[in-house]
Amino acid sequence: MQDFTGRRMIVFGVASDTSLAWAIARVLGDRGARVTLGYQKRFLSRVLQLVKDQTWIEQYVECDVSQDDSVKAFYSKVSGKFDGLVHAVAFAPAETFVNPITETTQEDFTVAMVVSSYSLVRVVKHGLAHLNPDAGVVTLTFLGASRVTPGYHVMGPAKAALEALVRELAAACGPTHGLRVNAISAGPVKTLAASGVPGFDSLLDLMAKSTPLRRNVSHEDVARATSFLLSPDAAGITGQTIYVDAGYSAMGGPPEPQPLLLERHQDPPGAIA
Ligand code: NAP
Repeated sequence: MQDFTGRRMIVFGVASDTSLAWAIARVLGDRGARVTLGYQKRFLSRVLQLVKDQTWIEQYVECDVSQDDSVKAFYSKVSGKFDGLVHAVAFAPAETFVNPITETTQEDFTVAMVVSSYSLVRVVKHGLAHLNPDAGVVTLTFLGASRVTPGYHVMGPAKAALEALVRELAAACGPTHGLRVNAISAGPVKTLAASGVPGFDSLLDLMAKSTPLRRNVSHEDVARATSFLLSPDAAGITGQTIYVDAGYSAMGGPPEPQPLLLERHQDPPGAIA
């Protein structure tokens, strides 16, 4: 288990107790980190409930990652240096999830790209002066970046751009700042954002039956993998998208029927007992 005693982390994207950002913040806090949250203004009351009595929360500061001024204001309110930054933010207008991709407007496409992809550049660019040389950055992506998944539509290209930005930022900020930048491609997990994707529950059912582990991932699976990528144990890892999806992305087709697998484990004909 990673020990983050004395380490300071920034986590963007807490909207509720089901947010992956909150699960990640909790794991980092449990492991000794002092955590600063960046949250959207409209979630203040929920954030106040969440941070109550959490001694590992250092600060919670409003931040709209789609606005330069807001991100600059965020960093002006947090003092000292940080050892890690988590970007767990995504948004696309509701109609893009129900309309076919051919009806996506340039405006909606731009919003999805700015909030879900470019915002990573923005929080890293303005955050560089606040990050220690060995700091790690982790963002969250989804299989929709490289495969068509039901209802994801414009978020697919937005996540593809995000994964490409992870590589670009790793190449740009490694030599100058020693920064490591990685993504976790999480399997589906029930959250506020996920509830806006039509067919999400069917996807959960399908994956639970067909991943190599025959289950979905949990919030904690994603949080613990994020903790690993932020830790010195991952000092040699940068520019990568790591799948935390119970192995779903490794499959090229439906799982083999269970009886076939059982037969293979029985003694072959003629085997000597
Ligand atoms: P969530 O709890 O709804 O968190 C998404 C957060 O992004 C919300 O707080 C959301 O606020 C915030 N956000 C949107 N626009 C923002 C802005 N301009 N500035 C600051 N914050 C903004 O959902 P989640 O599932 O945990 O999502 C976290 C990340 O995990 C996302 O990148 C998502 O794509 C990724 N992910 C999720 C899953 C899954 O199955 N849940 C799987 C793979 C990857 P609003 O509600 O106001 O938009």
